[in-house]
Amino acid sequence: MLDIFRKRRMWRRQSELKSSYDVVIIGGGSHGLATAHYLREHGIKDIAILEKRYIGSGAAGRNTTILRSNYKTPEGAKFYDASVKLYEGLSQDLNFNLLFSQCGHLTLAHADRAMFVMANRAEVNRIQGIDSRLIYPDEIKELAPAMQVDNPHATYPILGALYHPPGGIIRHDAVVWGLARSADQGGAEIHQNTEVLGMERSGGRAGGRITKVKTNRGTINAGQVLNCTAGWSTLISDMADVPLPITTHILQACVTEPMKPLLDVVIVSAISRARFLTLLPTVFKGEHVQQPSVLVRRASSVRISADRPFTMYADGDPVATLPVTVRALPRAVRVMVPA
Ligand SMILES: Cc1cc2nc3c(=O)[nH]c(=O)nc-3n(C[C@H](O)[C@H](O)[C@H](O)COP(=O)(O)OP(=O)(O)OC[C@H]3O[C@@H](n4cnc5c(N)ncnc54)[C@H](O)[C@@H]3O)c2cc1C
Repeated sequence: MLDIFRKRRMWRRQSELKSSYDVVIIGGGSHGLATAHYLREHGIKDIAILEKRYIGSGAAGRNTTILRSNYKTPEGAKFYDASVKLYEGLSQDLNFNLLFSQCGHLTLAHADRAMFVMANRAEVNRIQGIDSRLIYPDEIKELAPAMQVDNPHATYPILGALYHPPGGIIRHDAVVWGLARSADQGGAEIHQNTEVLGMERSGGRAGGRITKVKTNRGTINAGQVLNCTAGWSTLISDMADVPLPITTHILQACVTEPMKPLLDVVIVSAISRARFLTLLPTVFKGEHVQQPSVLVRRASSVRISADRPFTMYADGDPVATLPVTVRALPRAVRVMVPA
């Protein structure tokens, strides 16, 4: 708590690169920083973490912050179970509140096939000793009252869910900062804006090893080089002449402001004008939401734009010209109730 008002730096100001390090870690995300944190426990301190932008600028600072171990394969489930257990003690280890909340995790099933898959996953998880089970709409409603579990017209009806009580969320930036502070305290140097551009190898390709790392700030000697660059892994491995059979795909998440009120957003897929006109009368009875071309979503903020100037109406009155951002404001509506 006191750290919120701290004046001291969390890690040292960036120094010049030394000419040599025992360990060079490429990538200042959660894996790179955690590696330095755990190497510290093994007494390995002469470490440089090279990050081409700023720490946490990769997936570590852009993910959906979920921690769970209810994965599909036995190997995956076991691996993530050990990881969740590490996270359970990490705030204490780092002496930094990571805001880890094991509030439980639900994976919703919208079809019979999905129910079958979830049941199978629950079995695989339980054999590994992981708390995971299939639950039905009434229990989902108890756990998440805002969820519409009994809407017969829902486009994606909720048939059940895989419930994983130890799953939860953690403040991802705090993970990066806490690990960075620990790595720094252990002696590791964090070098931001330091991009790895190439590597040099001693000896021949077979049996040789990487001895030098070239960066935009000069070349350094390295005892060991660790590639912790996630989506960039293949590019870094190519520099070391180690082809990886991995293809990087972009994963995106939509992030809203953390606001409690929600907007019901009706999204209509592209339809012909004739179809639109035939659908129009259903709008007045609210029956349009049952049409397959209409999707209803909940959000706290919605951005509306058009490919030409367009006036937006609310309650029949013109209110603005597009583009417009509509936000649900807390306590903005005043309601009179009988005493
Ligand atoms: C949208 C999204 C949602 C996700 N949601 C979740 C979730 O809810 N739960 C979960 O467990 N996981 C989630 N993940 C996955 C998780 O975020 C990643 O597995 C994890 O952050 C990877 O950490 P990392 O340290 O390996 O990589 P990164 O955090 O990506 O770090 C790699 C770093 O390497 C640096 N780098 C790259 N090339 C070079 C170079 N040449 N020189 C120097 N530095 C370089 C990059 O700038 C970057 O900072 C999500 C991922 C995404 C993209």
